[in-house]
Formats: sequence, structure tokens, C-alpha cells
Amino acid sequence: MRRPLVLGNWKMNGTKASNAELIEGLKAAAAGVDSVTIGVCPPAVFIAQIQELAGDSNICIGAQDVSVHAGGAYTGECSADMLKEFGVSYVLVGHSERRTYQNESDELIAKKFKATQDAGLVPVLCIGETLEEREAGKLESVITTQVNAVIDAYGIEAYKNAVIAYEPVWAIGTGVTASSEQAQEAHALIRKLLAAKDAEVAAGMQILYGGSMKPGNAAELMAMEDIDGGLVGGASLVAADFAGIFNAAK
Ligand code: PEP
Repeated sequence: MRRPLVLGNWKMNGTKASNAELIEGLKAAAAGVDSVTIGVCPPAVFIAQIQELAGDSNICIGAQDVSVHAGGAYTGECSADMLKEFGVSYVLVGHSERRTYQNESDELIAKKFKATQDAGLVPVLCIGETLEEREAGKLESVITTQVNAVIDAYGIEAYKNAVIAYEPVWAIGTGVTASSEQAQEAHALIRKLLAAKDAEVAAGMQILYGGSMKPGNAAELMAMEDIDGGLVGGASLVAADFAGIFNAAK
């Protein structure tokens, strides 16, 4: 039985004041929810504030990115150990916005995945096809390439302590959600790819759906056999909406 996981990706949003209000609302809504792991991924500069605000509540902290390096002359970067010092337990790697705007390659993303794990944190590998790729019938090949980048570099064992988020690029921030059947098809494909290498890893992998998830569609998506939770962007910035989603995962 895989435990549901719902992570909020705040992207580059928030102020000290709005964060305090949001975390206060989430703490109240999450109190007593013990069958779902709930987390928020704020911009790096706010992680220390969120650690303090979250206190000993059941809100976990994730980071949106990490350096492949352990330390040194890498201006602007944060290492996985630095994130760990501030209570981070999950790190998003390979989000489509970073693949697009920072030109992150599958090879670099695999290195970030490994750097996260080496620090004892859990990487959340974000994968997904563009609309153009889907329409060209490339869903399977795109997902296979993105999943295999980690296996090729570090072996299937690397997926033992990791999460995968399937996020069709055409559904992120667009208001267009994949239908539960479309999402299930992709999730089943991901699990099949892992199962071809290691059945136990495949059975235990939490595979999250991301792409315009809202309280109104979360229950149907997360009821699908291979959908184990959500990676939520826009709707994670409003406490009532995010709570509506993690409550649907129960
Ligand atoms: C995301 O940024 O990972 C995401 C899924 O965004 P949204 O929910 O806004 O589509």
C-alpha cells in the first residue's frame, strides 16, 4: 500500500506575510490528517521561515531545486546538505519550468537526483511530455527517456528512495487538466518501465500527478490505481484549495 503524498510547489511566489498566513491555514487544515504526507516547496529564500512556522506540525518541507555540487565556488547555488540543515526532506528535480527556462538536461537532472539522495533527502523527479510531443505520438518515448536517464546513470536502485511526478507540460499552469484516464495511462506506463527492471521498486514508487490539480478534480485523479498523490502549483497557494486536495487523497 503506497502512502499518498501531496506536495505544493509555490514556484516564485510568496512574501513573509503571505507565507505566514498560508502556513497558519495549512497547519489548521492538516492537523489530524495522518494518512497523507503533506508538504510545501517554497522558494529557497523562505525555507528557514517555513521551517520555523511549520514547527512540529505535519507539514513537510521541499525545495524546488538543488545544486549538483556539495559546496564551493558555485555562485547562487544551494547544496542538498544546506537544504537538509533547514528541515527539507523532498527536492523537486527536473521541473518542466527548469527544463525549459534553465535548459536543464536529463543528465544534469539525474545528477541533481543523486546529489539529493546522497544527502539523505528524497528527490521528486518531474517528467512529462509537451503537447507537441503528445500529438506526435511520443508520450511513451519521452517518458521512457526521462525515467531511464536516472537508471542509466545510477541503476534502478536509485529509485528505491525517490518519488516521480508525472506532469504533462500542457497541463501545468494552464487550467487544462489531463483526464483521469490520460493520467492513469502515463502513470501505468511509468510503473511498467520500473517493473521491467525491479518489481519491488515499481510497486513501492509513489507516482504523483501534476498539472492544474484542483479540489474539484483531485479525488477523481487520485482514485486511479497508479496515482499516489499530487504535485500542486497554483492551487497550493490558497490554504482552502490545497486542503481540498490533500483531503481528497485520504
Ligand atoms: C507545478 O508547477 O508543478 C504544477 C503542477 O502547477 P499547476 O498546478 O499550477 O498546474
